[in-house]
This record gives sequence, C-alpha cells and structure tokens, in this order.
Amino acid sequence: MQSTFHFLKRSIIIAPLFLIILSCHAQTHELETFLNRIETEYEQISIELGTAYWYFYSGEGEADLLTPKNKYYALLTNDTLNNYIQTWYPKRSEITDTILQRRVAIWHNTLLSAKVEYDADIMKARNDLEKMLEVKDGKKESSDSISLKMLELIKLRNKKAQDLGFKNYVHLSFENNGLGYDWFNQFIENLDKATLEPYKALVEQAKKDRNIKQFDQRGAYQFIGLFYANNSPKIPGKYDNIDLVKESLANIGIDYSTFHAQLVEKQLPAGVGGQGIMLNIPMDFRAVMTLGMDISVWMHEMGHGLHGLFNSIDHPVLEGYEWIPGNSTPAFSEGMAETSAWFTRNPQWLKKYAQMTNDEIKKQQETLNTYAPAFIRFSIVNFMKEIELYLNPDKPYEEIQIELAKKYLLIETDKIRTQNLNDIIYVSYPLYLQNYLLADMIACQIHQTLKEKFGDEYAFNKNVGNYLEQFYKDGEYYSWKQRLINGTGKELDIKAYLEFYNIK
Ligand SMILES: [Zn+2]
Repeated sequence: MQSTFHFLKRSIIIAPLFLIILSCHAQTHELETFLNRIETEYEQISIELGTAYWYFYSGEGEADLLTPKNKYYALLTNDTLNNYIQTWYPKRSEITDTILQRRVAIWHNTLLSAKVEYDADIMKARNDLEKMLEVKDGKKESSDSISLKMLELIKLRNKKAQDLGFKNYVHLSFENNGLGYDWFNQFIENLDKATLEPYKALVEQAKKDRNIKQFDQRGAYQFIGLFYANNSPKIPGKYDNIDLVKESLANIGIDYSTFHAQLVEKQLPAGVGGQGIMLNIPMDFRAVMTLGMDISVWMHEMGHGLHGLFNSIDHPVLEGYEWIPGNSTPAFSEGMAETSAWFTRNPQWLKKYAQMTNDEIKKQQETLNTYAPAFIRFSIVNFMKEIELYLNPDKPYEEIQIELAKKYLLIETDKIRTQNLNDIIYVSYPLYLQNYLLADMIACQIHQTLKEKFGDEYAFNKNVGNYLEQFYKDGEYYSWKQRLINGTGKELDIKAYLEFYNIK
C-alpha cells in the first residue's frame, strides 16, 4: 500500500508530465499534418518522374526528366520541411506514433541524399550525362567525353559530401543506404576470406589445364562465364517469356491479370539488361527488357513489380520511390527482385520448364558450386572499382581496375582489358552495384525458408505468394534487416549462403 505522501509526490510529478505529453502531441499533430501535405506532393512528382524515366527507357514517348526534377528540387529544398526534419530527427524516439517516427527517419535520409543529388552543379552534370548516354537514333557520344564528365560528377559528389561533414561520398552513401560503411567493410573482408582458398584452387587448376605460368583475365572470365551459363535456365522454344512469367506467378498463387503491369522488350542503353519501374506505387508497374534476355531477367524485373504492387502502406515517403537515394533500401529491393528470379533456379521449376532431369540439375548445381567463389569475387571487383574511384578520385581508373583484378581475381599479369565509365548506372544509381550480390544472398535465404515451410514443391504451392506478400506490404516501415528477420526468422545469414554453394 502507498502512503499519502507518495501519492501526492506522484501527482505533482504526473501533472507536468501530462502537460508535456499533451504539448508534444499537439506538436507531432502539426508535424503530421505538414508531412501529409508534402508527401501528397512528393508522390505526385515521383509519378511524373517515373513516367519520364519510363519514356527514357522504353522510348514510348518524349522523356522530359527536367520538369519533375525541378519540382523535386523545389520540394526538397523547402525550408519548412527541412526545419521540421532537422528538429524532429534527433528526438524522433519521443514520437509515440511509430509510423510517423519512421517517416521522420526516412525523410532525414531522403533529404540528406537530396542535398547531394539536387545540388545545382551535381544536377547539371547528371542531366548532361543522362542526355549523353541516351540511345537516340543509334547515335552515341564518344566514351572519352563521357568518362571525363563522369569523373567531374564523382568529384562534385565527394565535395558535397565533405561539405555535409562526411569523409567522402562513399561514407555518406553507405550511412544512408541501410548497410553502414563499417558493416559493409566487414562483409567484404569476410567474403574475401571465405572464398580465397577455393578460388586459389580454381586458379591453380586452370594454370595446369591450360599449361600457363601466369593466370590471366581470360581465365577469370572463363570461370564467370561458366557460372552464369549454368545460372540461366535454357527454356525450349515453346514458351514466350511473358507467358512463363505469368505461369510461374500463377503456380505460387499470384494472379498476374489482376495487376496493372506491362512488360516489354527493347534495346536499352549500354549496361542495362532490364529496367522495371513502379510509376505509381502500388498501382502501375512497367518493365522493359533489352533484347535477348532470358527468363531470369524477366522474373527479376517482375519481382520489382511484386514488391511495389503489393505495397499497402499509404504514406508516400514509406512507399519507397527510388528516385532519391535514401528513400528506399536498394539492397532489399534488389533482394525482392532476385527472390522472384530465383524461382527459375528452383529444381522443380527447372524440371518442368527447362525439361531437365534430376541428374542434370545435380550436375548443374555442382558446376555452380565450383565457380561460386569466382562469382563472388568477380562481384566484389565489379562494385569495388566504383567505390575505389570515389575513395581515390585522382587515381587513374585503369590502375584501380588492375589492382582489384590482382587482389580479388588473382590475375598475375598487367595485361588487363579495363572498362570505361560509359554506364548510366554510375550516373543515375551511384554506388549501387553491391546490391546485386546482397540480393543474391537475400533471395537464397528466403528460398531456403520457403523450402523449410512449404517443402520441396514450394514453387508450385499456391500459398507461397501469400507468404511472400509480407516482404512487400509494409514498404519502408521496417528496416531491411527487420524485414528479413520477420520473414525468415534471422538476419542476413552469410554463412548459410556460402554453405548453399558448398563453400566452407
Ligand atoms: Zn533490379
């Protein structure tokens, strides 16, 4: 029993606390009303920009990227918006409404990225490059002028990141993409360690087989070629890709005909295999695939579609529009796309559509296991060359590529064919390429969970679609790590991924 004194003391404490809570509630109400208005506008512009990018890639209409970008610029530099987020972000834990709390956090990330991408000089360099890289009437800009302009953009992004208090753009980007710079470095180190010995063994074997003293780039490309050849199903001519997409979805209980979705085929800019765009989340998905892509690319883009079409959160900043880095979690988005693509690697699916026997499937998996260390190390080189360029913008790009080829692919000669910076991904999606390796891991983990929950025949179980919806429906409300825990019971499991490919 409590004494009167205690009761009095508690009432005195409770009264002002009550007032504080009330006034805090009034303030968050104001914040919420403001964000509701700004997010309606934000979504409208996102739809306009998505439509413009759709025209850019599909060629279905004149792509006016500038008008919506200028509207974005006005909105993202809005003082009231910036003041609200600056005030509330540090004390967001005081906001009891967890959706509003998350909206503040996502706005913080979005505005931070926007400070870089919507800086006047950076925007101009980006716009110029996008124009130079657009495939128009078969004419292309010279790659030297593109590379020079690209280097200029890299330096501008670095400088802006430094003005904002970061070491450089890599640090800003990784603090903002849900991965974290330290986590990412550890991740690369672990993968390097785990794959080094099996990769070395491959190199030694190749040197013996080809009777060469120095391992060269050709050897490394052969490994990768063998990995990809076995990772893309060969489907007999009787299926159209689009029909196979529809059927694969129907098999897991997803009815394509209920979507507003459109998938087409067309020549795309260099470096792009397919481009899926949620023009309006969750209402309008379209994807364009470059010529001759196989079913796994179609299913990948369709996976982006599922991610957006089943999104049922109705706060635009949590819907994950992809136009400003920081608004979405690209590693997870690519993970959702690859989760869909991985159905084309499922043994039961391969038996039915690629008409493979159990023995052929087993043999194919063994080949994949053999070359998986090369695939992982090749992926690392692929994204590290861009990261290293941001970290050392004065180092020649060729030199960076040679060093990485030596470190990760164990190439023993300097005779290495290097690449230029002639790729739209470096312009529109900076520091994005690591997401594809993470996506492979996410997809692997989700498919292992599907197998555990629904058995070996899960690619033909009508309840699977429903199960997958949980990854899509809450948009950016949960962090990507939490989404993975909610759906699979654990965080990203790198060890299980390596074990899948028999790397120990
Ligand atoms: Zn993708």
